[in-house]
Amino acid sequence: MTQALRIGIAGLGTVGASLARILTEKAEMLTTSCGRPITIAGVTARDRNRDRGVDLSGVEWHADALSLASNAELDVFVELMGGAGDPAYSAVKAALARGIHVVTANKALLAAHGIELATIAEKTGALLNYEAAVAGGIPVIKALRESMTGNTISRVYGIMNGTCNYILTRMEREGLTFEACLKEAQRLGYAEADPAFDIEGNDTAHKLSILTSLAFGTAIAADDIYLEGITNISIEDIRAAADLGYRIKLLGVAQKTDSGIEQRVHPTMVPVDSVIAQVDGVTNAVAIESDILGELLMVGPGAGGNATASAVLGDIADIAKSRPGAQNVPAFGRPVEALIPYQRAQIQNHEGGYFIRLTVVDRAGVFASIATRMAEQKISLESIVQRSKQHTEGVEPQTIILVTHATSENAVRAAVEKIKAEGYLVGEPQVIRIERPKAA
Ligand code: NAP
Repeated sequence: MTQALRIGIAGLGTVGASLARILTEKAEMLTTSCGRPITIAGVTARDRNRDRGVDLSGVEWHADALSLASNAELDVFVELMGGAGDPAYSAVKAALARGIHVVTANKALLAAHGIELATIAEKTGALLNYEAAVAGGIPVIKALRESMTGNTISRVYGIMNGTCNYILTRMEREGLTFEACLKEAQRLGYAEADPAFDIEGNDTAHKLSILTSLAFGTAIAADDIYLEGITNISIEDIRAAADLGYRIKLLGVAQKTDSGIEQRVHPTMVPVDSVIAQVDGVTNAVAIESDILGELLMVGPGAGGNATASAVLGDIADIAKSRPGAQNVPAFGRPVEALIPYQRAQIQNHEGGYFIRLTVVDRAGVFASIATRMAEQKISLESIVQRSKQHTEGVEPQTIILVTHATSENAVRAAVEKIKAEGYLVGEPQVIRIERPKAA
Protein backbone atom coordinates (compact mmCIF):
# COMPACT_ATOMS: atom_id res chain seq x y z
CA MET A 1 0.00 0.00 0.00
CA THR A 2 1.16 3.54 -0.76
CA GLN A 3 2.11 5.92 2.02
CA ALA A 4 -0.63 7.50 4.12
CA LEU A 5 -1.80 11.00 3.24
CA ARG A 6 -1.03 13.15 6.30
CA ILE A 7 -3.41 15.99 6.91
CA GLY A 8 -3.41 18.81 9.45
CA ILE A 9 -6.76 20.33 10.48
CA ALA A 10 -6.84 23.96 11.61
CA GLY A 11 -10.25 24.63 13.18
CA LEU A 12 -12.25 22.01 15.06
CA GLY A 13 -15.65 23.72 15.12
CA THR A 14 -18.84 22.68 13.32
CA VAL A 15 -17.05 21.55 10.16
CA GLY A 16 -13.60 20.60 11.53
CA ALA A 17 -14.97 18.35 14.28
CA SER A 18 -17.35 16.66 11.81
CA LEU A 19 -14.45 16.05 9.44
CA ALA A 20 -12.25 14.58 12.19
CA ARG A 21 -15.08 12.29 13.29
CA ILE A 22 -15.84 11.07 9.76
CA LEU A 23 -12.14 10.45 9.05
CA THR A 24 -11.96 8.35 12.22
CA GLU A 25 -15.22 6.45 11.74
CA LYS A 26 -14.74 5.78 8.03
CA ALA A 27 -10.97 5.19 8.03
CA GLU A 28 -11.20 1.71 6.51
CA MET A 29 -13.63 2.66 3.77
CA LEU A 30 -11.57 5.73 2.85
CA THR A 31 -8.38 3.68 2.67
CA THR A 32 -10.02 1.27 0.24
CA SER A 33 -11.51 4.07 -1.85
CA CYS A 34 -8.37 6.24 -1.98
CA GLY A 35 -5.88 3.39 -2.17
CA ARG A 36 -4.05 4.77 0.88
CA PRO A 37 -4.93 5.72 4.44
CA ILE A 38 -5.73 9.33 5.36
CA THR A 39 -4.29 10.16 8.77
CA ILE A 40 -4.71 13.24 10.93
CA ALA A 41 -1.11 14.31 11.61
CA GLY A 42 -1.90 17.47 13.59
CA VAL A 43 -4.69 19.77 14.70
CA THR A 44 -5.17 23.23 16.12
CA ALA A 45 -8.03 25.39 17.41
CA ARG A 46 -8.32 28.16 19.99
CA ASP A 47 -9.29 26.08 23.00
CA ARG A 48 -7.22 22.96 23.54
CA ASN A 49 -9.47 21.65 26.32
CA ARG A 50 -12.81 21.78 24.55
CA ASP A 51 -14.48 18.42 23.92
CA ARG A 52 -14.73 17.97 20.14
CA GLY A 53 -16.84 14.80 20.31
CA VAL A 54 -14.03 12.79 18.73
CA ASP A 55 -10.94 11.15 20.22
CA LEU A 56 -7.92 13.20 19.14
CA SER A 57 -5.71 12.13 22.05
CA GLY A 58 -3.05 10.57 19.79
CA VAL A 59 -2.91 13.58 17.46
CA GLU A 60 -0.26 16.26 17.79
CA TRP A 61 -1.74 19.57 19.01
CA HIS A 62 -0.23 22.76 17.55
CA ALA A 63 -0.26 26.06 19.40
CA ASP A 64 -1.39 27.92 16.30
CA ALA A 65 -2.33 27.49 12.67
CA LEU A 66 0.97 28.80 11.31
CA SER A 67 2.90 26.23 13.29
CA LEU A 68 0.64 23.48 11.93
CA ALA A 69 1.01 24.77 8.36
CA SER A 70 4.79 24.72 8.78
CA ASN A 71 4.87 21.09 9.90
CA ALA A 72 7.33 19.34 7.64
CA GLU A 73 5.41 16.06 7.90
CA LEU A 74 2.22 17.42 6.35
CA ASP A 75 0.82 16.61 2.87
CA VAL A 76 -2.41 18.62 3.18
CA PHE A 77 -3.30 21.64 5.32
CA VAL A 78 -7.06 21.78 5.92
CA GLU A 79 -8.18 25.27 6.90
CA LEU A 80 -11.55 25.31 8.72
CA MET A 81 -11.19 28.37 10.95
CA GLY A 82 -12.86 30.93 8.68
CA GLY A 83 -12.29 34.64 8.09
CA ALA A 84 -10.51 36.56 5.34
CA GLY A 85 -7.64 37.64 7.60
CA ASP A 86 -5.22 35.93 9.94
CA PRO A 87 -4.63 33.29 11.07
CA ALA A 88 -6.32 31.68 8.03
CA TYR A 89 -4.65 33.92 5.43
CA SER A 90 -1.04 33.59 6.68
CA ALA A 91 -1.35 29.88 7.42
CA VAL A 92 -2.79 29.01 4.00
CA LYS A 93 -0.14 31.15 2.31
CA ALA A 94 2.63 29.48 4.31
CA ALA A 95 1.38 25.99 3.46
CA LEU A 96 1.06 26.73 -0.27
CA ALA A 97 4.46 28.44 -0.34
CA ARG A 98 5.99 25.22 0.96
CA GLY A 99 4.17 23.17 -1.68
CA ILE A 100 1.68 21.71 0.81
CA HIS A 101 -1.78 21.18 -0.66
CA VAL A 102 -4.58 23.23 0.89
CA VAL A 103 -8.23 22.34 1.35
CA THR A 104 -10.47 25.09 2.71
CA ALA A 105 -14.18 25.89 3.16
CA ASN A 106 -13.43 29.59 3.57
CA LYS A 107 -15.29 31.71 0.98
CA ALA A 108 -14.31 34.97 2.70
CA LEU A 109 -10.62 34.12 2.33
CA LEU A 110 -11.00 33.11 -1.33
CA ALA A 111 -13.12 36.15 -2.21
CA ALA A 112 -10.43 38.43 -0.75
CA HIS A 113 -7.20 36.59 -1.62
CA GLY A 114 -8.14 33.75 -3.99
CA ILE A 115 -6.05 34.87 -6.95
CA GLU A 116 -2.96 35.57 -4.82
CA LEU A 117 -3.27 32.13 -3.22
CA ALA A 118 -3.82 30.44 -6.59
CA THR A 119 -0.67 32.14 -7.90
CA ILE A 120 1.41 30.77 -5.04
CA ALA A 121 -0.12 27.30 -5.51
CA GLU A 122 0.79 27.32 -9.19
CA LYS A 123 4.37 28.29 -8.46
CA THR A 124 4.94 25.54 -5.93
CA GLY A 125 2.78 22.85 -7.56
CA ALA A 126 0.36 22.69 -4.63
CA LEU A 127 -3.38 22.18 -5.03
CA LEU A 128 -5.91 24.68 -3.69
CA ASN A 129 -9.25 22.89 -3.28
CA TYR A 130 -12.34 24.61 -1.88
CA GLU A 131 -15.49 22.68 -2.80
CA ALA A 132 -17.14 23.45 0.56
CA ALA A 133 -16.72 27.21 0.16
CA VAL A 134 -19.77 27.57 -2.10
CA ALA A 135 -23.15 25.94 -1.42
CA GLY A 136 -21.74 23.56 1.23
CA GLY A 137 -22.18 19.95 0.15
CA ILE A 138 -23.25 20.69 -3.46
CA PRO A 139 -20.34 19.82 -5.81
CA VAL A 140 -20.62 23.03 -7.85
CA ILE A 141 -16.90 23.88 -7.84
CA LYS A 142 -15.98 20.55 -9.37
CA ALA A 143 -18.80 20.90 -11.91
CA LEU A 144 -17.52 24.29 -13.09
CA ARG A 145 -13.80 23.66 -12.66
CA GLU A 146 -13.61 20.20 -14.19
CA SER A 147 -16.80 18.51 -15.38
CA MET A 148 -18.01 21.37 -17.60
CA THR A 149 -14.68 22.13 -19.27
CA GLY A 150 -15.39 23.13 -22.88
CA ASN A 151 -18.82 24.59 -22.09
CA THR A 152 -19.39 28.29 -22.70
CA ILE A 153 -21.38 29.46 -19.73
CA SER A 154 -23.99 32.20 -20.09
CA ARG A 155 -25.44 32.39 -16.57
CA VAL A 156 -24.88 30.97 -13.09
CA TYR A 157 -27.36 31.68 -10.35
CA GLY A 158 -28.49 30.21 -7.13
CA ILE A 159 -29.78 30.22 -3.61
CA MET A 160 -26.56 30.16 -1.62
CA ASN A 161 -27.52 31.41 1.82
CA GLY A 162 -29.62 29.09 3.96
CA THR A 163 -30.43 31.77 6.53
CA CYS A 164 -32.11 34.02 3.95
CA ASN A 165 -33.93 31.16 2.30
CA TYR A 166 -35.17 29.93 5.66
CA ILE A 167 -36.50 33.40 6.54
CA LEU A 168 -38.24 33.90 3.17
CA THR A 169 -39.74 30.40 3.30
CA ARG A 170 -41.11 30.96 6.84
CA MET A 171 -42.53 34.36 5.89
CA GLU A 172 -44.39 32.77 3.00
CA ARG A 173 -45.62 29.69 4.83
CA GLU A 174 -46.59 31.22 8.15
CA GLY A 175 -47.41 34.77 7.11
CA LEU A 176 -44.90 36.05 9.68
CA THR A 177 -42.90 39.28 9.48
CA PHE A 178 -39.24 39.40 8.49
CA GLU A 179 -38.26 40.29 12.08
CA ALA A 180 -40.18 37.35 13.58
CA CYS A 181 -38.62 34.87 11.13
CA LEU A 182 -35.13 36.24 11.75
CA LYS A 183 -35.58 35.72 15.52
CA GLU A 184 -36.71 32.16 14.89
CA ALA A 185 -33.70 31.53 12.62
CA GLN A 186 -31.41 32.80 15.40
CA ARG A 187 -33.13 30.60 18.00
CA LEU A 188 -32.61 27.53 15.79
CA GLY A 189 -28.95 28.38 15.16
CA TYR A 190 -29.48 29.09 11.42
CA ALA A 191 -28.59 32.76 11.82
CA GLU A 192 -25.66 34.36 13.61
CA ALA A 193 -26.20 36.69 16.59
CA ASP A 194 -25.12 39.43 14.16
CA PRO A 195 -27.00 38.34 11.03
CA ALA A 196 -26.10 41.35 8.86
CA PHE A 197 -23.57 39.46 6.77
CA ASP A 198 -26.20 36.93 5.71
CA ILE A 199 -29.33 39.05 5.36
CA GLU A 200 -27.61 41.95 3.60
CA GLY A 201 -26.33 39.52 0.95
CA ASN A 202 -22.58 39.70 1.63
CA ASP A 203 -22.20 35.97 2.23
CA THR A 204 -23.94 35.20 -1.08
CA ALA A 205 -21.73 37.81 -2.78
CA HIS A 206 -18.53 36.07 -1.58
CA LYS A 207 -19.75 32.77 -3.00
CA LEU A 208 -20.94 34.39 -6.22
CA SER A 209 -17.55 36.01 -6.82
CA ILE A 210 -15.93 32.56 -6.80
CA LEU A 211 -18.54 31.11 -9.18
CA THR A 212 -18.15 34.07 -11.55
CA SER A 213 -14.41 33.49 -11.81
CA LEU A 214 -14.87 29.78 -12.52
CA ALA A 215 -17.74 30.30 -14.97
CA PHE A 216 -16.28 33.14 -17.02
CA GLY A 217 -12.53 32.75 -16.55
CA THR A 218 -12.21 36.15 -14.87
CA ALA A 219 -10.20 37.33 -11.90
CA ILE A 220 -12.27 37.41 -8.70
CA ALA A 221 -14.03 40.76 -8.20
CA ALA A 222 -15.83 40.37 -4.87
CA ASP A 223 -16.12 44.14 -4.31
CA ASP A 224 -17.72 44.69 -7.70
CA ILE A 225 -21.12 43.15 -7.02
CA TYR A 226 -24.53 44.82 -7.00
CA LEU A 227 -25.94 44.04 -3.57
CA GLU A 228 -29.44 44.19 -2.05
CA GLY A 229 -30.40 42.16 1.00
CA ILE A 230 -33.79 40.85 2.09
CA THR A 231 -34.54 43.26 4.94
CA ASN A 232 -36.96 45.28 2.78
CA ILE A 233 -39.09 42.31 1.77
CA SER A 234 -42.50 42.51 3.35
CA ILE A 235 -45.26 40.00 3.76
CA GLU A 236 -47.27 42.08 1.23
CA ASP A 237 -44.56 41.46 -1.40
CA ILE A 238 -44.59 37.74 -0.70
CA ARG A 239 -48.39 37.54 -0.92
CA ALA A 240 -48.54 39.63 -4.08
CA ALA A 241 -45.80 37.47 -5.63
CA ALA A 242 -47.77 34.32 -4.79
CA ASP A 243 -50.96 35.76 -6.30
CA LEU A 244 -49.09 36.48 -9.51
CA GLY A 245 -47.45 33.03 -9.70
CA TYR A 246 -44.02 33.87 -8.25
CA ARG A 247 -41.91 33.21 -5.16
CA ILE A 248 -39.28 35.52 -3.74
CA LYS A 249 -35.74 34.15 -3.25
CA LEU A 250 -32.42 35.82 -2.50
CA LEU A 251 -30.43 34.91 -5.60
CA GLY A 252 -26.82 35.45 -6.52
CA VAL A 253 -26.65 35.84 -10.30
CA ALA A 254 -23.65 36.08 -12.63
CA GLN A 255 -24.58 36.64 -16.24
CA LYS A 256 -22.73 37.43 -19.42
CA THR A 257 -24.15 40.47 -21.25
CA ASP A 258 -23.05 42.58 -24.23
CA SER A 259 -21.51 45.17 -21.92
CA GLY A 260 -19.69 42.81 -19.55
CA ILE A 261 -20.62 40.49 -16.73
CA GLU A 262 -23.41 41.23 -14.29
CA GLN A 263 -22.73 40.11 -10.75
CA ARG A 264 -25.76 40.79 -8.60
CA VAL A 265 -27.25 39.63 -5.34
CA HIS A 266 -30.83 40.69 -4.64
CA PRO A 267 -34.30 39.46 -3.74
CA THR A 268 -35.68 37.95 -6.91
CA MET A 269 -39.07 36.75 -8.10
CA VAL A 270 -38.91 33.30 -9.69
CA PRO A 271 -41.86 31.55 -11.38
CA VAL A 272 -43.62 29.35 -8.83
CA ASP A 273 -43.47 26.32 -11.13
CA SER A 274 -39.67 26.52 -11.60
CA VAL A 275 -37.54 24.02 -9.68
CA ILE A 276 -35.58 26.77 -7.93
CA ALA A 277 -38.82 28.21 -6.52
CA GLN A 278 -39.41 24.88 -4.74
CA VAL A 279 -36.08 25.06 -2.88
CA ASP A 280 -37.17 25.82 0.65
CA GLY A 281 -35.67 26.34 4.08
CA VAL A 282 -31.91 26.07 4.55
CA THR A 283 -31.43 24.08 1.33
CA ASN A 284 -29.21 25.60 -1.39
CA ALA A 285 -29.45 25.38 -5.18
CA VAL A 286 -27.15 26.41 -8.01
CA ALA A 287 -28.08 26.55 -11.70
CA ILE A 288 -25.55 26.71 -14.52
CA GLU A 289 -26.60 27.48 -18.10
CA SER A 290 -24.20 26.61 -20.88
CA ASP A 291 -24.05 25.87 -24.59
CA ILE A 292 -23.17 22.18 -24.58
CA LEU A 293 -24.76 20.82 -21.42
CA GLY A 294 -27.78 23.13 -21.36
CA GLU A 295 -29.12 23.81 -17.88
CA LEU A 296 -27.67 22.02 -14.88
CA LEU A 297 -29.45 22.51 -11.56
CA MET A 298 -28.01 21.15 -8.34
CA VAL A 299 -30.00 21.18 -5.10
CA GLY A 300 -28.75 20.07 -1.70
CA PRO A 301 -27.59 20.91 1.80
CA GLY A 302 -25.66 24.18 1.73
CA ALA A 303 -24.45 24.11 5.31
CA GLY A 304 -24.08 22.04 8.46
CA GLY A 305 -21.17 20.07 9.85
CA ASN A 306 -21.68 16.82 7.96
CA ALA A 307 -22.72 18.28 4.59
CA THR A 308 -19.79 20.69 4.58
CA ALA A 309 -17.33 18.07 5.82
CA SER A 310 -18.52 15.81 2.99
CA ALA A 311 -17.30 18.39 0.45
CA VAL A 312 -14.03 18.89 2.36
CA LEU A 313 -13.51 15.15 2.42
CA GLY A 314 -14.09 14.95 -1.34
CA ASP A 315 -11.31 17.51 -1.86
CA ILE A 316 -8.95 15.56 0.41
CA ALA A 317 -9.79 12.29 -1.36
CA ASP A 318 -9.01 13.89 -4.74
CA ILE A 319 -5.52 14.69 -3.45
CA ALA A 320 -5.10 11.21 -1.95
CA LYS A 321 -5.99 9.65 -5.31
CA SER A 322 -3.90 12.00 -7.48
CA ARG A 323 -0.91 10.47 -9.22
CA PRO A 324 2.54 11.91 -8.49
CA GLY A 325 3.72 14.12 -11.34
CA ALA A 326 0.18 14.48 -12.78
CA GLN A 327 -0.90 17.91 -14.01
CA ASN A 328 -2.66 19.89 -11.24
CA VAL A 329 -6.16 21.29 -11.74
CA PRO A 330 -5.71 25.09 -11.56
CA ALA A 331 -7.55 26.61 -8.58
CA PHE A 332 -9.86 28.74 -10.74
CA GLY A 333 -10.14 26.37 -13.66
CA ARG A 334 -7.38 27.90 -15.77
CA PRO A 335 -3.84 29.13 -15.01
CA VAL A 336 -3.87 32.50 -13.20
CA GLU A 337 -2.20 34.28 -16.12
CA ALA A 338 -5.02 33.11 -18.40
CA LEU A 339 -7.70 34.69 -16.18
CA ILE A 340 -9.10 37.82 -17.83
CA PRO A 341 -9.91 41.04 -15.94
CA TYR A 342 -13.50 41.24 -14.77
CA GLN A 343 -15.50 43.77 -16.75
CA ARG A 344 -18.56 44.86 -14.84
CA ALA A 345 -21.89 45.35 -16.59
CA GLN A 346 -23.73 48.14 -14.76
CA ILE A 347 -26.99 47.20 -13.07
CA GLN A 348 -28.68 50.19 -14.80
CA ASN A 349 -28.31 48.29 -18.08
CA HIS A 350 -29.83 45.10 -16.71
CA GLU A 351 -32.62 43.74 -18.90
CA GLY A 352 -35.40 41.69 -17.38
CA GLY A 353 -38.89 41.63 -15.96
CA TYR A 354 -39.81 43.71 -12.90
CA PHE A 355 -42.38 43.56 -10.14
CA ILE A 356 -43.34 47.02 -8.89
CA ARG A 357 -45.56 47.55 -5.85
CA LEU A 358 -46.94 51.04 -5.31
CA THR A 359 -49.08 52.26 -2.42
CA VAL A 360 -51.11 55.22 -3.61
CA VAL A 361 -53.71 57.61 -2.26
CA ASP A 362 -57.09 56.63 -3.57
CA ARG A 363 -58.09 59.23 -6.09
CA ALA A 364 -59.29 59.34 -9.66
CA GLY A 365 -56.67 59.27 -12.41
CA VAL A 366 -53.86 57.58 -10.47
CA PHE A 367 -54.19 54.31 -12.31
CA ALA A 368 -54.10 56.06 -15.69
CA SER A 369 -51.14 58.22 -14.64
CA ILE A 370 -49.09 55.16 -13.69
CA ALA A 371 -49.89 53.46 -16.98
CA THR A 372 -48.85 56.62 -18.84
CA ARG A 373 -45.52 56.90 -17.01
CA MET A 374 -44.75 53.31 -17.90
CA ALA A 375 -45.69 53.83 -21.54
CA GLU A 376 -43.46 56.93 -21.75
CA GLN A 377 -40.49 54.69 -20.92
CA LYS A 378 -41.73 52.10 -23.45
CA ILE A 379 -42.26 49.60 -20.64
CA SER A 380 -44.68 46.91 -21.67
CA LEU A 381 -46.79 45.52 -18.85
CA GLU A 382 -47.58 41.87 -18.33
CA SER A 383 -50.14 42.79 -15.68
CA ILE A 384 -51.35 45.72 -13.63
CA VAL A 385 -53.51 44.92 -10.62
CA GLN A 386 -55.22 47.09 -8.06
CA ARG A 387 -55.39 45.23 -4.81
CA SER A 388 -58.22 46.25 -2.57
CA LYS A 389 -60.59 44.17 -0.51
CA GLN A 390 -63.55 46.48 -0.31
CA HIS A 391 -62.98 49.48 -2.42
CA THR A 392 -64.49 52.68 -1.05
CA GLU A 393 -63.01 55.54 -3.05
CA GLY A 394 -61.02 58.08 -1.05
CA VAL A 395 -61.02 56.09 2.15
CA GLU A 396 -57.61 54.44 2.42
CA PRO A 397 -54.43 53.98 0.38
CA GLN A 398 -54.61 51.38 -2.36
CA THR A 399 -51.93 49.00 -3.58
CA ILE A 400 -51.13 48.80 -7.27
CA ILE A 401 -48.94 45.98 -8.54
CA LEU A 402 -47.28 46.02 -11.92
CA VAL A 403 -45.39 43.20 -13.60
CA THR A 404 -43.39 44.23 -16.65
CA HIS A 405 -42.20 42.29 -19.66
CA ALA A 406 -38.44 42.41 -20.25
CA THR A 407 -37.25 46.01 -20.03
CA SER A 408 -34.18 47.88 -18.85
CA GLU A 409 -33.43 48.87 -15.27
CA ASN A 410 -32.86 52.42 -16.51
CA ALA A 411 -36.40 52.61 -17.88
CA VAL A 412 -37.93 51.23 -14.68
CA ARG A 413 -35.96 53.64 -12.50
CA ALA A 414 -36.94 56.60 -14.70
CA ALA A 415 -40.63 55.64 -14.63
CA VAL A 416 -40.61 55.15 -10.85
CA GLU A 417 -38.93 58.54 -10.33
CA LYS A 418 -41.61 60.21 -12.46
CA ILE A 419 -44.36 58.45 -10.51
CA LYS A 420 -42.78 59.54 -7.22
CA ALA A 421 -42.85 63.16 -8.41
CA GLU A 422 -46.63 62.95 -9.04
CA GLY A 423 -47.27 63.16 -5.31
CA TYR A 424 -49.82 60.36 -4.96
CA LEU A 425 -47.47 57.69 -3.54
CA VAL A 426 -47.67 56.69 0.11
CA GLY A 427 -44.24 55.45 1.26
CA GLU A 428 -41.48 54.09 -0.97
CA PRO A 429 -42.20 52.00 -4.05
CA GLN A 430 -40.99 48.40 -3.99
CA VAL A 431 -39.14 47.10 -7.06
CA ILE A 432 -38.11 43.46 -7.34
CA ARG A 433 -36.34 41.94 -10.35
CA ILE A 434 -37.77 38.81 -11.97
CA GLU A 435 -35.42 35.99 -12.99
CA ARG A 436 -36.61 33.26 -15.30
CA PRO A 437 -34.90 29.89 -15.62
CA LYS A 438 -33.88 29.18 -19.21
CA ALA A 439 -36.55 26.56 -19.69
CA ALA A 440 -39.43 28.58 -18.14
P1 NAP B 1 -16.82 27.36 13.79
O1 NAP B 1 -17.78 26.34 14.24
O2 NAP B 1 -16.91 28.72 14.32
O3 NAP B 1 -15.36 26.79 14.07
C1 NAP B 1 -14.21 27.56 13.86
C2 NAP B 1 -13.04 26.79 14.40
O4 NAP B 1 -11.85 27.54 14.18
C3 NAP B 1 -13.12 26.56 15.93
O5 NAP B 1 -12.67 25.26 16.25
C4 NAP B 1 -12.19 27.61 16.52
O6 NAP B 1 -11.54 27.20 17.70
C5 NAP B 1 -11.15 27.71 15.39
N1 NAP B 1 -10.53 29.02 15.39
C6 NAP B 1 -11.12 30.22 15.27
N2 NAP B 1 -10.20 31.20 15.35
C7 NAP B 1 -9.01 30.58 15.53
C8 NAP B 1 -7.69 31.06 15.70
N3 NAP B 1 -7.43 32.36 15.72
N4 NAP B 1 -6.71 30.13 15.85
C9 NAP B 1 -6.99 28.81 15.85
N5 NAP B 1 -8.23 28.32 15.69
C10 NAP B 1 -9.22 29.20 15.55
O7 NAP B 1 -16.86 27.51 12.19
P2 NAP B 1 -17.42 26.46 11.13
O8 NAP B 1 -18.88 26.66 11.01
O9 NAP B 1 -16.88 25.11 11.40
O10 NAP B 1 -16.80 27.05 9.77
C11 NAP B 1 -15.47 26.81 9.40
C12 NAP B 1 -15.27 27.26 7.95
O11 NAP B 1 -16.16 26.54 7.12
C13 NAP B 1 -15.57 28.74 7.71
O12 NAP B 1 -14.71 29.24 6.73
C14 NAP B 1 -17.00 28.71 7.17
O13 NAP B 1 -17.30 29.82 6.37
C15 NAP B 1 -16.95 27.45 6.38
N6 NAP B 1 -18.26 26.84 6.13
C16 NAP B 1 -19.04 26.51 7.19
C17 NAP B 1 -20.28 25.94 6.96
C18 NAP B 1 -21.17 25.53 8.09
O14 NAP B 1 -22.27 25.05 7.85
N7 NAP B 1 -20.76 25.68 9.35
C19 NAP B 1 -20.72 25.73 5.64
C20 NAP B 1 -19.88 26.07 4.57
C21 NAP B 1 -18.65 26.62 4.84
P3 NAP B 1 -12.35 26.92 19.07
O15 NAP B 1 -13.30 25.81 18.76
O16 NAP B 1 -11.33 26.52 20.04
O17 NAP B 1 -13.05 28.20 19.40
